[in-house]
Amino acid sequence: MVIVMNVGATAAEISAVIARVTETGFRAHLVEGEERTIIGVIGDDRKAADPELFNLMAGVDHVMRVSKPYKLASREFHPKDTIVPLNGTGVGGKKLAVIAGPCSVESRTQILEAAHAVKEAGATALRGGAFKPRSSPYSFQGHGEAGLELLAEARAETGLPIVTEVMEPGLVPLVVKYADVLQIGARNMQNYALLHAVGESQHPVLLKRGMMSTVEELLMAAEYVLSHGNGRVMLCERGIRTFETSTRNTFDINAIPVLKQRSHLPVIADPSHATGKWELVNSAARAAVAAGADGLIIEVHPNPEEAWSDGAQSLRPETFAKLVREIRRVAEAVDRTV
Ligand code: PEP
Ligand code: MN
Repeated sequence: MVIVMNVGATAAEISAVIARVTETGFRAHLVEGEERTIIGVIGDDRKAADPELFNLMAGVDHVMRVSKPYKLASREFHPKDTIVPLNGTGVGGKKLAVIAGPCSVESRTQILEAAHAVKEAGATALRGGAFKPRSSPYSFQGHGEAGLELLAEARAETGLPIVTEVMEPGLVPLVVKYADVLQIGARNMQNYALLHAVGESQHPVLLKRGMMSTVEELLMAAEYVLSHGNGRVMLCERGIRTFETSTRNTFDINAIPVLKQRSHLPVIADPSHATGKWELVNSAARAAVAAGADGLIIEVHPNPEEAWSDGAQSLRPETFAKLVREIRRVAEAVDRTV
């Protein structure tokens, strides 16, 4: 349930409503909009808060039931777009985030070369996996903390904030020490212990859609993070599994406007994992920006044929630079900037 306060409701009126929410056994979640304050009523879904208890209170305009199972993630709850702080400007506003870098951190030379190249081309953040969720136990699993140290070195040299995956709740404190954004991979979208752990930090989270998850399941996963106190969540469409085999995944372009409609959280598109083929990445990236994505995450490798993971979908630095130039034009057409 959402309690919408009058324009000009006083601090005392707001406090009285919050006190009643707490007395009735629910939690109040305050959203201060430009015009008015909205108070979300959160709690155990076996019992529903009674709107009548709040309807007649001083300063209350109206009370609304939230029809969706996700509350904090919904637009009904939070009509204004959320801006997740990153690199000064933040993600979710007019300027698009361009997160780029290799799938995995392989060596010092590789990550530094990639970092400088993507920065030069216009990236706003550097990606690179130190803990890798690989389908095979025999594939490279990442350098772990040594990889995080290399990412930190790349940040020190380029100023680019770091986006990197965390796979276990117990490793959140370690990854938080190095990363600017905690990536939750597609395979872990419904790892509730992990969602709880990142929800307890205040670090921005990039939550990737599970390869067999619906939009609603993605939003419920975001709800876990939000309900544990971390509101800095970015959603990521990275392609889903379908019967189609000509691409690695099927890029669900529809998910972008659907997510923007249902949620206030920024939406990032990952055309690399969505297509699995470097030669398709540019088209999918342009489509994502045209569809309203707030940013892109793109795999770029100085030498894709030698990549330890995801070489087939990785762009060379010069191809990435061309993509950024083309994205600029699409962004302009939809009233965004790069
Ligand atoms: C990745 O970003 O390299 C990755 C493993 O992505 P996903 O979790 O979307 O497969
Ligand atoms: Mn990858």
